[in-house]
Amino acid sequence: MAAASGAAAMLCGKEEKVLGARKAPGSCPYCGGGVAATDVEATWVFCCLPLCRRAKRRFACTACARRLVSYPAILHDD
Ligand SMILES: [Zn+2]
Repeated sequence: MAAASGAAAMLCGKEEKVLGARKAPGSCPYCGGGVAATDVEATWVFCCLPLCRRAKRRFACTACARRLVSYPAILHDD
C-alpha cells in the first residue's frame, strides 16, 4: 500500500476494506505453507461517490506471502 498518495487517491478509484481473515484449508502450492483467506470489501469510488461495493475473498500464503490467485478453484469442489 502506498501511503504517499494520501487522500487524493480516495476521490476516484478503488477502496478496499478488510472485513476479516481466517485460515483456509489446504496448503500453498509453492512452498506448502498455510493459506489465509481474507475477506475484502471493495468499493469503487468516482468523485467521492461510491458506485459499486463488492465483497470478495482473497487467498494468500502465510509463509511465503504469495497471493494465490487460482486457489479458490480448489475450494469449488464441495
Ligand atoms: Zn507459500
